[in-house]
Amino acid sequence: MLDHKMTCPLQTDNTDILLDYCSRSLDPDRRAMFERHMAHCAECRDMASAQSEIWMAMDAFEAEPVSADFDQKLYARIDRLEHVPVWDKFWAPVRSYLQGQPAWKPALSVAAASAALAVVFFVRTDVMAPRLMPAINVQEVVEAEKALEDLDMLGQLESESPQSEKETI
Ligand SMILES: [Zn+2]
Repeated sequence: MLDHKMTCPLQTDNTDILLDYCSRSLDPDRRAMFERHMAHCAECRDMASAQSEIWMAMDAFEAEPVSADFDQKLYARIDRLEHVPVWDKFWAPVRSYLQGQPAWKPALSVAAASAALAVVFFVRTDVMAPRLMPAINVQEVVEAEKALEDLDMLGQLESESPQSEKETI
């Protein structure tokens, strides 16, 4: 029997097979083939073990999406903004502008949140995945987008609730 040598997925830019292997969604035939290939391809072996670590880290990461502290701060901030008197809402942007801070609050909280997320992702990827693969970037972008969509929704709820009556022009 000819032991077919598989073309190295790293050389053919066919990283899907590697990612599928690490996420255990590769069909048994291709899995066996890839394992045979890995036996004599150190690059794929390294990549697979790095990927597995990332996958495990991502699993752990999904279990606790963002720090409890982050949510707490975000909700506290929203709460604070919802309970300020109406006149204060009008003056707050002006006052913060005078204090040299960025002014409008939904923009501010989303920007702050995305900055915080960016820090989380950069720190994490830095520590755990010095050799980032494109697919992992995609995964992160999807997660960051999801988080930002949630924030966006919060922001919309926030701006809809007390002011909606006023804005029916
Ligand atoms: Zn290889």
